[in-house]
Amino acid sequence: MSLGNGRHYLAIPGPSVMPDRVLAAMHRAAPNIYAGGFVETVPGIVADLKAVARSTGEVAIYIANGHGAWEAAACNVFARGDRALALVTGRFGAGWAEMVRALGVRVDMVDFGPRAPVDPARVTEALLADTGHEIRAVLCVQTDTSTSVRNDIAAIRAAIDAAGHPALLMVDCMASLGCDRFEMDAWGVDVMVAGCQKGLMTPPGLGFVFFNARADAARERADCVTHYWDWRPRVSPPMFYRYFDGTAPTHHLFGLRAALDMIAEEGIEAVWARHAALSRAIWAAAEAWGQGGPVALNIADPAFRSHSVTTFRAGPVAVALRDWAERTAGVTLGLGLAPGPGAESEAVAGQLFRIGHMGHVNAQMVLGALGAVEAGMRAVGIPFGAGGLSAAAEAVAAGA
Ligand SMILES: *Cc1c(COP(=O)(O)O)cnc(C)c1O
Repeated sequence: MSLGNGRHYLAIPGPSVMPDRVLAAMHRAAPNIYAGGFVETVPGIVADLKAVARSTGEVAIYIANGHGAWEAAACNVFARGDRALALVTGRFGAGWAEMVRALGVRVDMVDFGPRAPVDPARVTEALLADTGHEIRAVLCVQTDTSTSVRNDIAAIRAAIDAAGHPALLMVDCMASLGCDRFEMDAWGVDVMVAGCQKGLMTPPGLGFVFFNARADAARERADCVTHYWDWRPRVSPPMFYRYFDGTAPTHHLFGLRAALDMIAEEGIEAVWARHAALSRAIWAAAEAWGQGGPVALNIADPAFRSHSVTTFRAGPVAVALRDWAERTAGVTLGLGLAPGPGAESEAVAGQLFRIGHMGHVNAQMVLGALGAVEAGMRAVGIPFGAGGLSAAAEAVAAGA
């Protein structure tokens, strides 16, 4: 007998839950990719993506996962031998930096550790030390999905400006776009990368690179760029075929069209508010549990916690808890990711679990996942403080 039979909840931080409406939109025959209704939908998708990102700049769409978008963004900006400053607050910040380094860019990494956000004062300091203005760009992640830290992007822009430094600001919003407030224009972000499989609720396969005119000026001297990754033909294609440099990702675009419609119907501000309210329920449960046991939030300060993913520290029983939840309660929790390279970091990963709460997620799903965690803690013998589930229910009632 298993209590896990029934509709499964994949509560990992990407791929996220796909709405039936997205799946249904994809369930159709191949369209004509040269003319007609399908071709006519693409400019609207581009416009709606920019609206979600709060950008009046450009967006290039690639058939790629997030790693592809990382490389696409970097190769349009850098020339070999350039310098970059990478602000690392977890595995993904480090991963992007390593990829940029592999292109032949000299990357200085500033690591803020696995439990803290970027400290803007250190950004200003690092840029002031670059008196020759060799650093072309500052790389950072809005929500680092390994640690679930959420960085203050506007504060990082202010820190760059405070140093009077011309570096571009490049932000990874893979885990936060469509979940957490993000204002590309207002916050002075020059390049932003995202994928379709998290807040945008579409099966993995589309990578997005948003950029403004300052970033496009850097493209002039970028010698890392190749024909396929070049963002220019993808934003003002001489013919439809060049939007994607080949066959369009037809069914992903059908799915994305439906997802963008859902976001527009709910309203992006309401989408952000829903994610914030559901996050508060998770934090309330965790804070109560932590009063009497090892399960605790990785990020102490609520101002720097993601609204789309939550990383828990659970001690050595994290793996048993995840196994129990998946097999017995029908919810797959995210596994721990090493916050950085090295054996010590790997050991930490085994003591973490994560809940993905991005995209097509509502109160009953979050309350269900929390209930499964509490039942699992009982089942595998993890002590915990009382009142977590009622604290979560209270937060949901208040948030609604
Ligand atoms: C998921 C994610 C990525 C990588 O995306 P893939 O599609 O797995 O390549 C990069 N950065 C962040 C912050 C992510 O959450």
